[in-house]
Amino acid sequence: MRQKLFEPEYVLDVRCIAGLNGIRPQTGIGVEIGALTTLNSIERSDFLRKHYPVLTEAAATVASPVLRNMGTIGGNICLDTRCLWYNQSLTWRKACGYCIKKDGDLCHVAPGGTKCWAAFSGDTPPALLCLDAEVEIAGPSGTRRLPLHEFYTGIGDNYRKLEPNELLTRVFLPASSADYRGIYRKLRVRGSIDYPLAGVAVVLKRFDGHVSDARLALTAVNPAPVLVKGVTQLLNGKIMDEVLAEAVGELAAKTAKPLTTSALTPEYRREMIRVFTKRALLAAASN
Ligand SMILES: Cc1cc2nc3c(=O)[nH]c(=O)nc-3n(C[C@H](O)[C@H](O)[C@H](O)COP(=O)(O)OP(=O)(O)OC[C@H]3O[C@@H](n4cnc5c(N)ncnc54)[C@H](O)[C@@H]3O)c2cc1C
Repeated sequence: MRQKLFEPEYVLDVRCIAGLNGIRPQTGIGVEIGALTTLNSIERSDFLRKHYPVLTEAAATVASPVLRNMGTIGGNICLDTRCLWYNQSLTWRKACGYCIKKDGDLCHVAPGGTKCWAAFSGDTPPALLCLDAEVEIAGPSGTRRLPLHEFYTGIGDNYRKLEPNELLTRVFLPASSADYRGIYRKLRVRGSIDYPLAGVAVVLKRFDGHVSDARLALTAVNPAPVLVKGVTQLLNGKIMDEVLAEAVGELAAKTAKPLTTSALTPEYRREMIRVFTKRALLAAASN
């Protein structure tokens, strides 16, 4: 609001809505997390750390402890997309002729294009995608539930399927996603506070030393958090080693489409996706 990106007539504090706060395991079904649950509560939950460790790892890297005490999982899922040309003061943006995402009609990142490439930069959504999370949305006509991967549009200036009169109320993690090894790796300028400029979440299950299931998702390198396709097929039935982890790293780097939305170059961010993917897979498969 200080940067005049939003000038709302009213600001609504949703923190007191009863029933939307807390982590509720449901035997045989999974776990329900209220949208108002703070990131700090998620980071410190023994249940989530034991059964869904990729989520606690990702939550623990959001911003700083002070912000995690206030910030919620719902807010992290609904977080606005970010860009070097957008997250600036009004004076700065005016001097540059604004941009597609706010008040203008050009994209400084992809000149000539009509699509906004602002990057989705939340830390928990890639972890949630790996866990097959679903979200519940409440509106005037009732509630609807949809897989998290359907919640994002992939368009930077219209990034989520949420009407102005709708509220994200709950997140569900299925029992079938429990007890995977989970790793989250994140590139940021200052380790103590910053948003990710590239982020990789990995979950992996092994049987008898062989991978029996694996999923990988990226953040901060596309206008939406994305699951990398083809990972399960590439890894299933195999024993993880450097060559295999590198092959998946290549796949992840091809899925990442970083543009000049941040101070770090797209080339570096893409390379770090490759490196983090390899490291995360090897860590997840280590004993
Ligand atoms: C200095 C700084 C550093 C940060 N670093 C990181 C970082 O490293 N990683 C990261 O992921 N985030 C980061 N953030 C962003 C923020 O702290 C977190 O994303 C936090 O989870 C936001 O939660 P919130 O409840 O405060 O959401 P808000 O900021 O209040 O909301 C974010 C958006 O979601 C909407 N919204 C919130 N809750 C709901 C709901 N239940 N239903 C529908 N819409 C909703 C709001 O209207 C708004 O559009 C940072 C923020 C700051 C200020």
